[in-house]
Amino acid sequence: MTAPANSAAQGPAHRLLRLDGVTVRFGTSARPALDAVELDVAAHEIVCVLGPSGSGKSTLLRVIAGLQQADAGAVLLEGREQSGVPPHRRGVGLMFQDHQLFPQRDVAGNVAFGLRMRGSSRAERERTVAGLLDLVGLPGAQRRAVASLSGGEQQRVALARALAPRPRLLMLDEPLGQLDRGLRERLVVELRSLFGELGTTVLAVTHDQGEAFALADRVVVMQDGRIAQTGTPLEVWQRPASEFVARFLGFDNVVEATVQGEAAATPWGKVPVPENTANGHCRLLVRPAGVRLTSAADGLPATVAARTFRGTHVTLLLQPACGPQLEAACALSDAPEVGERVGIAFAAPDVVVLDAASGASGASGAVEAAEG
Ligand code: ADP
Ligand code: MG
Repeated sequence: MTAPANSAAQGPAHRLLRLDGVTVRFGTSARPALDAVELDVAAHEIVCVLGPSGSGKSTLLRVIAGLQQADAGAVLLEGREQSGVPPHRRGVGLMFQDHQLFPQRDVAGNVAFGLRMRGSSRAERERTVAGLLDLVGLPGAQRRAVASLSGGEQQRVALARALAPRPRLLMLDEPLGQLDRGLRERLVVELRSLFGELGTTVLAVTHDQGEAFALADRVVVMQDGRIAQTGTPLEVWQRPASEFVARFLGFDNVVEATVQGEAAATPWGKVPVPENTANGHCRLLVRPAGVRLTSAADGLPATVAARTFRGTHVTLLLQPACGPQLEAACALSDAPEVGERVGIAFAAPDVVVLDAASGASGASGAVEAAEG
């Protein structure tokens, strides 16, 4: 296969991208779109930036690509400061959300676009295009009209076009945003193995946590132009650093708590906490898996308020005798009915003490810092 593979023989991971205190302001808005962002991306790493709409994800990509100027801070690619470097000389590829293929060109014309811009020979272009179309699962599609392609096929062509100039950093803005769920889930798996095969360094942004977790080696969660947390998908999922991150991931069992020894006093009564949790006041998250059902006579009495079938399990909304409603995850076979009375016990491994300082600065070390 004539894939535009990066040299796989590279030594220990080196830093490809560094953002050093990058700040971007639009107009006179009080809140910067990017607020002193610090971020490193290693060569061959797949990093996904995750955050709600308006948190600064697209601005982040645009500033790295050179399409948006930073008001403060620096973008470094392979150690080189980029402030005077125009977009086409940065060696980065950016695939926009609305992939904007050229409708008047066929598939090959679209994929070869960047190659033509840099003056590759015709033979080289044809070879590269054929290899890339193989790679994205559209072999032989060179002469097809863009309008004849499905949404997923167009997405693949846009991806091949972005990969063609062999960018040292490939940036994807909501790459699968337009597609329906099934296709998205399939493509995300394909993309991950494709990037692994090519050794491509990828910085992708999405508002979809499932997509980010499936694609990324490392996830960066953004909140109002700042980095709220970074970590592996597992770290972020298991230990959201702040209430914002927890709620963004869909965890809603969050309450005020006071830790004393091995348990915390909460509106739901005593909740066990993981070993070595510091005493004192905090916000506490109980992941749904940590809300265990017991007989109505044991545990915290509660009534099943709602029951939602999730395919692999059932989500229960429980109204306890005291405190706010609780979400629980439960196997299909033993899910109680709405209105049934149950008891609740809490399991310490799924209890997370959230950072009291709600994910502000120094968040890149949040996971480690939470240990101390
Ligand atoms: P996201 O991609 O996470 O949805 P954006 O980076 O597009 O967020 O936007 C971040 C913030 O900056 C938002 O408040 C948005 O309204 C603002 N913004 C983005 N681009 C511009 C622009 N060209 N002019 C003015 N404000 C902008
Ligand atoms: Mg955006």
